[in-house]
Amino acid sequence: MRYVIIGTGAAGIAAVEAIRSVERGAEIIMLGDDPHGFYSRPGLAYFLTGELSDKTLFPKTREDYKRLGFIYRKARVTRILRDETSLQLDDNSLLTYDRLLIATGAAASPLTVPGANLQGVVKLDHLNDARHILKLAKRGRTAIVVGGGITALELAEGLRARGMHVHYLLRGDRYWSSVLDEHESRIIEARLQEEGITLHFHSELREIIGKSGQVNSVRLKNGQTLKCSLLAYAIGIQPRVELARDAGLATERGILVNEFMQTNDPGIYAAGDVAQVYDPISGHSILDSLWGVAREQGDAAGLNMAGQAQPYIKSMPFNITRLAGLTTTIIGAVGHGRDDDLIGIARGDSETWRELPNAIVAQSGFDINRVRILVGENKLIGAVVMGDQTLSMPLQRIIANQMDISPMREALLTRDAKIADVVVDFWSNLKSEK
Ligand SMILES: Cc1cc2nc3c(=O)[nH]c(=O)nc-3n(C[C@H](O)[C@H](O)[C@H](O)COP(=O)(O)OP(=O)(O)OC[C@H]3O[C@@H](n4cnc5c(N)ncnc54)[C@H](O)[C@@H]3O)c2cc1C
Repeated sequence: MRYVIIGTGAAGIAAVEAIRSVERGAEIIMLGDDPHGFYSRPGLAYFLTGELSDKTLFPKTREDYKRLGFIYRKARVTRILRDETSLQLDDNSLLTYDRLLIATGAAASPLTVPGANLQGVVKLDHLNDARHILKLAKRGRTAIVVGGGITALELAEGLRARGMHVHYLLRGDRYWSSVLDEHESRIIEARLQEEGITLHFHSELREIIGKSGQVNSVRLKNGQTLKCSLLAYAIGIQPRVELARDAGLATERGILVNEFMQTNDPGIYAAGDVAQVYDPISGHSILDSLWGVAREQGDAAGLNMAGQAQPYIKSMPFNITRLAGLTTTIIGAVGHGRDDDLIGIARGDSETWRELPNAIVAQSGFDINRVRILVGENKLIGAVVMGDQTLSMPLQRIIANQMDISPMREALLTRDAKIADVVVDFWSNLKSEK
């Protein structure tokens, strides 16, 4: 049996590990077009700031790969020939497969404004992008950053850490409004300003203006012009579905797979940022773009490819990240994505708690230690923990396991409740009961 995996990212590697855990003798071939193979893409942000060297981005050693015993080929797959169960590679050679995994990830959405192809317009997708940015980042020069999520913020901080003057353009009236509430956005914005980053709200690019092929300034939709020598953007990602779509596999935004990570062709699977996975609980097909999810999906895909019927069960959304130097855990449903009403009502609300139609927002904290909990009927729905992470682990468990919170619900919802103390008490009592 020959297993072929396209993509050397988190999903691809997890699939190799899973296949090898059940199929000791099978042939596994991994194909990838990134010259650096498998490395930590989340780590690229810390490489940009200079906190991590590029060596530390590689989580696996030569021995690890040897132990897994697979064949790695640096190649770009140009076509999937389903009738012949084979792949065409960029050197025009063909490679047959018995089971195929497409783990091609997602790429940064392109900028489409005039001037986007000038030298000095950069994105942060791969290690080569990060190296390119570092070459162009010149102390004392000016950079413009565009985009509203984590990657844009990482670009702004990375360029600032390299001594550039950074102007950060935000389309709306605050940072990351789809996930953070207003208070949380303001905390991050204040910290960015303290770092010396200039924020521009309600600002959108109209065009990038060059001089001798090199970015020289930008014009905004409000008519303002800003000089710069670098423009970095992170305005979203696009799953790399082209191979699957051209081969006639079912796709929407991602490659559609069932809960066994199988496409509409039973010999072909997909996992990671490129996969849109059917969730039997909600009845929807869901796209994720998180490292941990890619690993879990790759693991499930590998086991299924090797004949172990292993449905992928979507775990609760969870991301631990650093925003403007502040460790932040985002657990469960906290923003627009899951519940528009919730964010609509919490936004701009200065009270410590407020009843909502089907959930209650309870908040506490000041400055950099802040907890926001979304309280449902008898369980917690989501939480944001900023700064002190003491509550992060208990909240993850309480939310993931959908624990009955009735013993603390009333205390949580008391006006001016000390949420941290209430959760810690609840958690300690639970542990002592065990
Ligand atoms: C700057 C940055 C910061 C991030 N920070 C976080 C974070 O803090 N937390 C978090 O959870 N996630 C983060 N992510 C997202 C996380 O890195 C991704 O969710 C994860 O890497 C997805 O893994 P994957 O295996 O699906 O795809 P990828 O890692 O994208 O791997 C896909 C591979 O397929 C290869 N490929 C594509 N097409 C072909 C082809 N035709 N032929 C051959 N090879 C091909 C690509 O070159 C690539 O190597 C971040 C991502 C970036 C870019």
